[in-house]
Amino acid sequence: MILNPYFDIDPRLEHMAAAAEADCAAPFAKIDENERHNAQKVLKAFIDHRVSESHFAGSSGYGYDDRGRETLDAVWAQVFGAEDAMVRHNFMSGTHAITTALFGVLRPGDIMVSLTGKPYDTLDSAIHGRGVGSLEEFGVVYRELALLPDGAVDFGSIPKAVVGAKMAYIQRSRGYSLRPSLQIETIRKIFEAVRGASPETLCVCDNCYGEFVDTLEPTEVGADLIIGSLIKNPGGGIAKTGGYIAGRHDLVELCGHRLSAPGVGREIGCTLTELRPMYQGLFFSPTVTAAALKTAVFAARFFELCGYRATPRYDEPRTDIIETVELGSREALCAYCRGIQSGSPVDSFVTPEPWAMPGYDDEVIMAAGTFSLGASIELSADAPLREPYAVWMQGGLTYPTGRTGVLLAAQSMLSNGELTIPAK
Ligand SMILES: *Cc1c(COP(=O)(O)O)cnc(C)c1O
Repeated sequence: MILNPYFDIDPRLEHMAAAAEADCAAPFAKIDENERHNAQKVLKAFIDHRVSESHFAGSSGYGYDDRGRETLDAVWAQVFGAEDAMVRHNFMSGTHAITTALFGVLRPGDIMVSLTGKPYDTLDSAIHGRGVGSLEEFGVVYRELALLPDGAVDFGSIPKAVVGAKMAYIQRSRGYSLRPSLQIETIRKIFEAVRGASPETLCVCDNCYGEFVDTLEPTEVGADLIIGSLIKNPGGGIAKTGGYIAGRHDLVELCGHRLSAPGVGREIGCTLTELRPMYQGLFFSPTVTAAALKTAVFAARFFELCGYRATPRYDEPRTDIIETVELGSREALCAYCRGIQSGSPVDSFVTPEPWAMPGYDDEVIMAAGTFSLGASIELSADAPLREPYAVWMQGGLTYPTGRTGVLLAAQSMLSNGELTIPAK
């Protein structure tokens, strides 16, 4: 075994890493197969739409008749098996894209029902906020179907929950909860249950972190609308900002009227210099997502071998790039995040500290040394400081650097007396 010549990592950790990696052969092979499938899916869409240099030119001002923008939308729609898509650098975050979709589609008096419990923390204000122009302040009625105690969707209660609802909303990834993320086949069954009970109800899915983790996307199994962020999977680590909304043409159009102005819609929206990175990011996305998945699988197995509980387990089927490791204490969590930060290509020298973040209930610690600020397709770790002191880690632009980041996190814990290496 070759020890790492550049980083000071305890040889016992290197041995543990080698053992973990040997165990990962089968999951890695599955990730490779999925990467191949999605890389071909993306390549075919580029070819079918005759993407060329002229599509990268970008526009200024109002951005009328921007062929690059329109073609990117069409490529995106094909890849996601959707009628239409709107991909824009103007989306400032995933939350902005999701909020645009909610306000785009919902009207006063409409009922929105979340079927996967409480949505992602940052949506709280958009749904319930006071004095900020939330959905509730605009007269949209919000309801929630709680998850079952084991984190599963309460299928039996879906029919009653969705009757009369304009929108059934689900979140594929678990966010800052410890529930299981939704497999594509589960998403299919949820939307079948919605349609069976209430054919008019729109099926909407927050797809953040899920893109290209499986061979199918939610739009291919019944979603009317999906939403995601370009500083996660589908930006491939290359898009500098942005988001997308994909799905039924009439709904994407409505979202366009919300993103710009009612009546103006998608006619405008200049692309500046962002088209090339958005195209290129989509092209790289299946491969970068695979690197992030391998980093997650490796981290899971490594920490399992150290005696920690990791979810998903290393060999469980995945539907997003998130890995959670329950580290048990505030000190272990902070040491872990410091280690991840120290192994980042950017800002390796800064020390993450717990902090109160807008949109989050608990103090949060975040480690992210990224090319795009806060991009979580790049190796990053974040954790609300609450029991069971689980760290949510995700991303990794390349597997070798992702693996190194995980080892540096373990080393940081070890150096702080927060990691015990089980005796053989
Ligand atoms: C990242 C994410 C969002 C959006 O978060 P932003 O930080 O605003 O980009 C929404 N839902 C889920 C599940 C996410 O992972």
